[in-house]
Amino acid sequence: MRFKGGYNVLLHGRPDPTVKVMPEQKTLYLPLRSRRFRFSDLRVEEGQHVGAGDALARDLENHGVPLLAPRAGNVRLDAVQDHIVLEDIAKEQEHADVDEQEIQHISRKFGSAGIKRYKLLMLGAWQFLYDAHTGTLPDPLGTPQALIVSTISLEPFTARGDAQLHTRLLNFTRGLEHLQSLLEYQPIYLVIPNIKSEFADLIRNHIRGYAWVKMVEIPLTYPYDDFAILARALELPRNKGPVWAMRTEGVLAIDRALTLSKPCLVRLISVGGTGVISPAHIKVMTGYPLKAIIDKYVFEHTPRVIDGGILTGEALGAQALGVGAECRGITVLSEPKGREFLGFVRPGSDRGSYSACFLSALLKKFNERLTTAMRGEGRPCISCNFCEEVCPAGLMPHLLHKYMHRDLLEEANRAGVDLCVSCGLCSYVCPSKIDLHAQHMEAQRLIEEEKKEIAESQSHSEAAKEVAA
Ligand code: SF4
Ligand code: SF4
Repeated sequence: MRFKGGYNVLLHGRPDPTVKVMPEQKTLYLPLRSRRFRFSDLRVEEGQHVGAGDALARDLENHGVPLLAPRAGNVRLDAVQDHIVLEDIAKEQEHADVDEQEIQHISRKFGSAGIKRYKLLMLGAWQFLYDAHTGTLPDPLGTPQALIVSTISLEPFTARGDAQLHTRLLNFTRGLEHLQSLLEYQPIYLVIPNIKSEFADLIRNHIRGYAWVKMVEIPLTYPYDDFAILARALELPRNKGPVWAMRTEGVLAIDRALTLSKPCLVRLISVGGTGVISPAHIKVMTGYPLKAIIDKYVFEHTPRVIDGGILTGEALGAQALGVGAECRGITVLSEPKGREFLGFVRPGSDRGSYSACFLSALLKKFNERLTTAMRGEGRPCISCNFCEEVCPAGLMPHLLHKYMHRDLLEEANRAGVDLCVSCGLCSYVCPSKIDLHAQHMEAQRLIEEEKKEIAESQSHSEAAKEVAA
């Protein structure tokens, strides 16, 4: 497949690499849902006292991945919908919530690599891994054809790999060694911004002699850091087995879990966007109150707070109270409520546009101050073809839009909607404000549902045949 597209976005409000530690809080609000996980199997009771590192809940549909208590405290289950609240927080020594009997059983059955995988799962490090093609959590018992490690984050406002590495290059290379010990002979592709840079030399010096690590450079345009695109660019096709992928933060978590046998309770996330006073990176734990972050960093009166970046993130509603288990960054944009008079025709020097229809097209690149204003309502597709030009997966988003508009799911499937990597570029450039990205996500969801239904009805009919026989 040929890759095209990519868009250099230069935005005001990008977080710098400074890392700040947020003050401890008395109460934490741990969301029971994140993008991939639903922590529905509760392991604690109302009022129970838990220690730092205890499993509060698990996601049984995702290999039992745990939601760990980041601090010691008392559990409240019904205080806030869809959250576990931890009150009377105390900073105690964290411990590893692993079952010794289970370890012995795994050791007999799967050896030392099996124990390592079990520990990673229990200590909250496995959740940093992705199946590059599907975006899901890989099976801890599975074998990948390769592993991709990306130190790059190209979506505006999300946590940067260089900020996470900071002074922890040794931990990073040790994490790579641990990862290699989980594999057999499969290669690790290390994706870095510029293989001739000082940063690359530093890494090269640390990993000298690691023949299994291959350094790869990619174009620095969004979304070439996307795992599915990287897998396709590295010619690691889906039909040759899963490709595992993770970011810098994941490698550091692996090192912590396997070198120190400690749970991964703290995350380094970004706080950025045009509504933020001094965009930076912060160290927080899951459940850290969003209000405390907003009070400290946000100056907008009517902000839209997004979990993630502007292109792939999700707006957080008033019901979201704490940092989620998979949060990589908080983005804040101003959300003008009033309608702008003739906003959709008024040219401006303060807004970049792919269509070059604004006055800003005459200016050099500038730090655009984004807001959530739509400058007029959505309009019908005008067949400008911009969405097709930028799509890195080579799709025709306008065509998929037409199929979805007429409920032609089968046609959308044939046109390759499953290859959409959710980068959001098509929605970003569309002059008609059509949320193509959301439509593709909906199509993928419906197709998956249909596939599941077909598989279930097939297994029912096979079971019925066996009974009849
Ligand atoms: S969201 Fe999907 S269809 Fe749209 S540009 Fe990205 S890959 Fe292409
Ligand atoms: S960018 Fe929008 S208006 Fe242009 S072809 Fe695509 S869907 Fe249609």
